[in-house]
Amino acid sequence: MDSRRARDPRRDRPKKAMPQRPVLPRRLQTAESGVYRRPALGDTGPVNPKVELVSTGSELLSGRTVNRHAQTLGEALAPLGLVLARDTTVPDDAAAIADAIRGALGRAEIVIVSGGLGPTSDDLTRDVVADLFRRWVVMDESARRQIHERFAHADRPVTAMTERHALVVEGAEVLPNSAGLAPGERLEKDGRFLFLLPGPPREFSAILEEHVLPWLRANWPDLEVPHTRIFQVCGVGESDLVTRLVPRGFPGEGVEVAYCAQPGRVEIRVWAPPARQDAVEAAAAIVRETLGSFVFTEDRRDLAEVVGGLLLDRKATLGLAESCTGGLVGQRLTAFAGSSEFFLGGIIAYANASKSRDLAVRPDTLDTYGAVSAETARQMARGVRIRFGADFGLSVTGIAGPAGATDDKPVGLVFAAVADAAGAAAKEFRFPGGRSSVRDWASQMALDLLRRRLLAAS
Ligand code: ATP
Ligand code: MG
Repeated sequence: MDSRRARDPRRDRPKKAMPQRPVLPRRLQTAESGVYRRPALGDTGPVNPKVELVSTGSELLSGRTVNRHAQTLGEALAPLGLVLARDTTVPDDAAAIADAIRGALGRAEIVIVSGGLGPTSDDLTRDVVADLFRRWVVMDESARRQIHERFAHADRPVTAMTERHALVVEGAEVLPNSAGLAPGERLEKDGRFLFLLPGPPREFSAILEEHVLPWLRANWPDLEVPHTRIFQVCGVGESDLVTRLVPRGFPGEGVEVAYCAQPGRVEIRVWAPPARQDAVEAAAAIVRETLGSFVFTEDRRDLAEVVGGLLLDRKATLGLAESCTGGLVGQRLTAFAGSSEFFLGGIIAYANASKSRDLAVRPDTLDTYGAVSAETARQMARGVRIRFGADFGLSVTGIAGPAGATDDKPVGLVFAAVADAAGAAAKEFRFPGGRSSVRDWASQMALDLLRRRLLAAS
């Protein structure tokens, strides 16, 4: 690293003496055993290190941006046997950031700070950390070179402002950023580790995957990873699930369970320490026996991908007709690689005229039963199947709201239908919530209708 000091006006403190650099251990104190032991706890055995996240950014608190890092980090840590203990979100305010980092370092062995590494005046993280650690902010030559190389490649000039991305806290281990300009940093203080990661999710994930996780794995290789089974269920509500499972002794002694409900699906997660693996498997067996085909995956795939897999297995093709979901089902069906093997195409037939013209729904059907009816859904599925020359046709039509309801057709009324060579079958649903909830539910349950048709056909 270059010791050349950046001319950062915020750090110009003419009368202050050069800060003392704290003496820090060169190596991880815990590397010997590979398992972190908190001496103060006495003879309680190995304790997994605590990890905390500090998310910086006023936009995360004003509702303009959803904080995605807690989810990304929590998911990434689980396979290592680590749990994200806390996520503190603070605005772009130096005192608030300093306070949050100090607090996190007081509780956790590993603290990850996101955001505020860019060049603008609201990017405060590295200055705050430099103050906390009593170090200088310096230009990292390799990061600066990388910026110059990237810009030369794109034939763009590098300004002084752009170069500021390469400023780091003196003494930090610099973690190259393969997805952006500002590198990540790792600092160490009194046996605690502080990671600084850029805010943009793509950059946060890249540095997490390429540098942070490998470092955690290398330094804590022997952590206890809970034995876990995860089920995605469609067609049974959360409370109904509990009513069915609990009388059968679920989840069993020493096994933890968590339910997470989303529109049209519930995730059931069971886990226990590795020594209780058999108990987790017994709980998993209860789920499989009790819920049968309500479980659509045990590997967290989206329902659309599961349906795509079933179509691929059967070498069958699909045509899709959507009304109230406006393309949501098609989007989900094409979100994973390989969908072109089974998905021939879709039509968003929103107006009645489109339903007749593009899907051959009979005008008298629309007049007699309405656009939101089982009969219309069946004709849409048949029409789109023929139009695309597909083995199966799937349709969905409904009232997503807030307008469009009548006395006998409330918001949330949705019909989905599946057609094949033998004919078409429709199903009626009443979904809760507002427009977006109804659309989510409708896309999920239309896909599930097709899944059930495919399972029955095999
Ligand atoms: P840059 O160099 O792009 O300025 P940075 O490290 O300074 O990166 P921020 O300025 O805090 O990061 O955020 C940059 C972008 O990343 C913003 O659009 C912000 O909304 C987004 N972002 C930051 N933190 C999060 C988060 N926790 N979840 C989702 N998006 C985030
Ligand atoms: Mg920024």
